[in-house]
Amino acid sequence: MEIKITKNQHPAEKPKDESKLGFGLKYTDHMFIMDYTAGEGWHDARIVPFEDLHIHPAAVVLHYAAEVFEGLKAYRTADGEVQMFRPIENIRRMNNSAERLCLPTLDENDAMQALTTFVELEKDWVPHTEGTSLYLRPFMFATEANLGLHTIKEAMFCIIASPSGSYYAEGINPVKIMIETHDVRAVRGGTGYAKCGGNYAASNRAGERAEALGFSQVLWLDGVYQKYIEEVGSMNVMFKIDGKIYTPDLIGTVLPGITRKSIIELLKDEGYEVIEKRISVEEVITALENGTLEEAWGCGTAAVVSPIGELAYDGKEYVINDNKIGSLTQHLYDELTAIQWGKAEDKHNWTVKVK
Ligand SMILES: *Cc1c(COP(=O)(O)O)cnc(C)c1O
Repeated sequence: MEIKITKNQHPAEKPKDESKLGFGLKYTDHMFIMDYTAGEGWHDARIVPFEDLHIHPAAVVLHYAAEVFEGLKAYRTADGEVQMFRPIENIRRMNNSAERLCLPTLDENDAMQALTTFVELEKDWVPHTEGTSLYLRPFMFATEANLGLHTIKEAMFCIIASPSGSYYAEGINPVKIMIETHDVRAVRGGTGYAKCGGNYAASNRAGERAEALGFSQVLWLDGVYQKYIEEVGSMNVMFKIDGKIYTPDLIGTVLPGITRKSIIELLKDEGYEVIEKRISVEEVITALENGTLEEAWGCGTAAVVSPIGELAYDGKEYVINDNKIGSLTQHLYDELTAIQWGKAEDKHNWTVKVK
């Protein structure tokens, strides 16, 4: 695939104080764009100066939410190199999401080339401080002007990037999570497994209510019985009960996290028994009450792992591991981040170096 590059003639200054980067506040000098037209396929791959997009007010995405996205990071290693973590997994998941929403899919090699060419060009934007990274956000949406519901004929694929601060600048503190018993995020046959903006829009209300009550996120239950554990906000969830690790199985309602998948592989390497199954909320509450629930954590690209210190259900609050990060949660964080930042040997070949 040919990518036409138009360099930004007025590049911005890189942030001097990397402790104030935050998340998703600042963007790099360029963006990748490619257009899709039915019958023609993807065309006009280009990297251009970062700027506003112009889309028609009747663009399908603005009315019918035909949008999917991805999130991954580029890390700077101790010797100054830049690497991405399992980018092919993000590309494959984006295609699965796109397929679910009837958006066009991408050729895997072209998408990989788009990512690596873009990151190569923006390499100097990968911050240097411990724990920081360049967050990459590929996304795709339907652009044609059409208020009638038809097959999607025009779409756009973009990649933007945002230098991000350390998620745990103040140390890894356990979070308070509320089990949501009213709203649901996904149902079987729906879009739960797709990374699409619509899932987030539907989640906002519960998230805001939980926040107003002092919780950081909600833990979703299944959409039919409201009885089985699904996932936390934008993270998958895992429990250590009586020495074994439990996580909800992927039956179409849960987002198949790449962090989830990587942690399962690391746990199995270390001889842990990992059980992927339907987990009822009663099972978790029973384990909390009889003291067998040792640790609980969320996992996702942004935080890597996020220990759960308190869980609220049905008006009761339960404390986990004295509201401290558990030793396995800490170990998983250390192990995975060591691979991502190039401090440990990458036995699984998960990282991809950028020139
Ligand atoms: C992205 C996401 C995750 C985590 O996936 P990773 O690939 O590990 O970052 C979990 N749940 C939801 C709803 C997500 O959107």
